[in-house]
Amino acid sequence: MGSDTIDAVALFGSCYADARHGFRADAGDAAADLQSHVNDEAGHGPTGELLATDVARFGPPGAERVLFVLSGVHGKEGYAGSAVQRGWLAAGGPDRIGRGCAVVLIHAINPWGFAYGSRTTEGNVDLNRNFVDFSKPMPANPDYDALHPIFHTADADPITLNRAISALESARAWMGPKAFSNAMSRGQYSHRDGMMYGGTSPTWSNRTLRAIFAEHARGARSAGLIDLHTGIGDYGATVFICLHAPNSPAWERARGWWGPRAIDGSTLPSEHKVLADYAGTTFDAFASSAGPCEKTATVIEFGTLDRLSMRRALLVDRWMNTTGDRSSPEALALMRETVAASAPADPEWRTRVVASGVTVVEEAVAGIARD
Ligand SMILES: [Zn+2]
Repeated sequence: MGSDTIDAVALFGSCYADARHGFRADAGDAAADLQSHVNDEAGHGPTGELLATDVARFGPPGAERVLFVLSGVHGKEGYAGSAVQRGWLAAGGPDRIGRGCAVVLIHAINPWGFAYGSRTTEGNVDLNRNFVDFSKPMPANPDYDALHPIFHTADADPITLNRAISALESARAWMGPKAFSNAMSRGQYSHRDGMMYGGTSPTWSNRTLRAIFAEHARGARSAGLIDLHTGIGDYGATVFICLHAPNSPAWERARGWWGPRAIDGSTLPSEHKVLADYAGTTFDAFASSAGPCEKTATVIEFGTLDRLSMRRALLVDRWMNTTGDRSSPEALALMRETVAASAPADPEWRTRVVASGVTVVEEAVAGIARD
């Protein structure tokens, strides 16, 4: 079955537990080797469910070429990533894996964030800034200090949020796009109640992802990574973010697998042409934990709402993380809003995302077999 005939909308879980259940059922039906990693440091989900990362492997043990497809680094973005993983299964993807190749689907690496509708892990840590070397001094982000008081809203009332959003727009104007991107997005290690906080030690999700990379890439000569996110890009568009050094062998391989759009920045929307110099991302985890093989990676973003709506969702998320109770009726209502900013319910959006995501995975499955 091709990805054009699958019911993409049905592949989106209604909550973390539903997505997890669907993923495990679909992977089991496709005869995957299934593994679960339970996060026993984060308690349970809002309905008492286990919080776990599930891993489905297809292909022989010790395969020479291993492609990882990762969802839910930013928890609530896992709705889309999970649907793409399940879409690839529904489209019969495992039947097209080349000889000597394996595909490893990592479902919900940040299960707490997925379950509670947050970008971060438990403890307000941005997992995609947490993969730094904690034995060294933390990356500095002096410009973040200017934004912290703006992020630090006293409540999540619309007037408060609009005031903060206007202040951020002003800061963007006076700082300029590059300095603002770095201040806002590169990650900061100084304010535990702040935005894009990288933490003080490796989180459970960090340790679990590194262990999965190490175990499943053992013996591999080549490894690939597709890290699925949402929130950057025009509504429903597919954006490639390649963090490999320009003209490096990995950068060339990414071009070979996915075409020029993987490396030339052409898929980035105009307001994201200037990216932050990110610290501690999954690229770093992959580079340092997936063994000595050659590595090819991309971040995929599916565009959702406009920039101001995304800022609003970030502010609400940070506020909820620092006020504590994510299970109250008020928190759950706000959570639905932040989740909608990461996974719009619109069937057209969901259909586009699954179709594009499955194509990106298929291109990598073909590319890794060729290289
Ligand atoms: Zn993300």
